[in-house]
Amino acid sequence: MQVDAIKLKNNAEPMMVTWDTGRRCNYDCTYCAASRHDNHSAFHSLEEYKQTFNFIKKYVKIYENSKSNPTNHCNINFTGGEPTLNPEFWNLVDYIKQDTKYFNLSLTTNGAWNKKFTKKIKESFFGITVSYHSESHDNLKKLVIENILDLKSTNIWLQVNVMLHVDYFDECVEVYNYLKSKGVKVNPRPIGDGNEQREGWFIDEDGTFRRTSHVYSQSQKDWFFKETGLQRNTSCSSGDEFGRGCCGGRCIQGLVDGEWQNVNMIDTYFKNWYCSVNWYFLHIDQHTGLVYHHQTCQAKFNNKKGSIGCLNNTEDILDQAKNSVINNYNITCPNTRCGCGMCVPKAKDVDVFLELKNNI
Ligand code: SF4
Ligand code: SF4
Repeated sequence: MQVDAIKLKNNAEPMMVTWDTGRRCNYDCTYCAASRHDNHSAFHSLEEYKQTFNFIKKYVKIYENSKSNPTNHCNINFTGGEPTLNPEFWNLVDYIKQDTKYFNLSLTTNGAWNKKFTKKIKESFFGITVSYHSESHDNLKKLVIENILDLKSTNIWLQVNVMLHVDYFDECVEVYNYLKSKGVKVNPRPIGDGNEQREGWFIDEDGTFRRTSHVYSQSQKDWFFKETGLQRNTSCSSGDEFGRGCCGGRCIQGLVDGEWQNVNMIDTYFKNWYCSVNWYFLHIDQHTGLVYHHQTCQAKFNNKKGSIGCLNNTEDILDQAKNSVINNYNITCPNTRCGCGMCVPKAKDVDVFLELKNNI
C-alpha cells in the first residue's frame, strides 16, 4: 500500500510539549544511553523551570493563534532522566497549576516515585506513562507495581510500557500479564534506539557498557506479535524494527490512490516529505538548554536537523516561530525513519501539504 500523505482524523489536536527536566535518574538501565541519564548532575532550580515555562507559554500561543482549528489546551509531558527525583519538580507543577488551566500535565516516569508524592500526582496530572524496567532493584520494582496499582484506582489516564529486556523476558511477560489481569493498560515495548548498527554491547561516553538495541529470539518475537496483534511479514529481530503505533493514541488517515483511508502500520520513510511537526511538537532539553521542534526527529526548516535555539536566548526562538508562521515556512523531512512524529500531517506533494496545513 503506497501512502502519499498522512493526516489526523481529528485536526484539532493540541500541541505536545515534551520537557526533559534533567538527566538525573535513580536507575541506570543498560539500554539507556549516557546522553539520556546520569546519577550526578545537579538538579535544576525552580527559577530555571519557571523561565522555561514562561517561554513555552509564549511559543505555543504563536502557533495556536495561527491555527484554523485552535485548541483550548496544550499538553506538557515531563520526561528525564527521572523527573520525580528533583524536589523542585513538584514546585514547578504547583506553579503551573496555579498560573493557568491551559496546560494538561502528563508524566513519563520509571514509576519509582516516593509514595508521599502520589497524592500530588493524583491532583495535578491527567496522564502518566510508567516504564517498567526489569534491571532495577527488587524493592524498587515492588514499589513501581504498588504505585501503578494505586493510580489504577483513579481517573488518571495511565499506561504502562513494559520494556522487553531480552535477558529478563520471562519476568517482563509475568509483569505484563499481571498488570493486564488488574485491568491496567499495558504495552510490551521492544528495546531499540533506531540505530541498526548498534545491536550489541558498546562502551558509552561515560565508560559504561551499554546495549541500546536488543535482539530477540524467535519465541520472544512470536510472543510479542501474538500479544500485540501486529502483523509483520518480516524477519526483523531487533527492537528498532518492530515498529509501534502512535504514542499519543491519535487516529490517522493515509492518502492511498487519491482516497483518504484509515491506516495503522505504515512505512515510516518520509524523507523530503513536507511535514507539520512544528505545529504539533516542541521539545525542551533543560539539561543542555537546547530547544527542538521534536525530540527525536529534530527537523528544522530548510531540510536541516538540530536545535532551534537555546533557553538563554528564547527571544530568538520566538522571533523565528513568528516569522515561520507569517512567511509560511515549511519543514521538509531530513530523516530516513520517522518515530513518534509519524501521526502529524505530512505529504509528498506541496499542494496536498498546503491544503492539510490550512486545516490545522
Ligand atoms: S529509568 Fe529511564 S531515564 Fe532512568 S536509566 Fe532507565 S530508561 Fe534511562
Ligand atoms: S521524522 Fe520528523 S520531519 Fe520527518 S516525517 Fe517524522 S515528524 Fe516529520
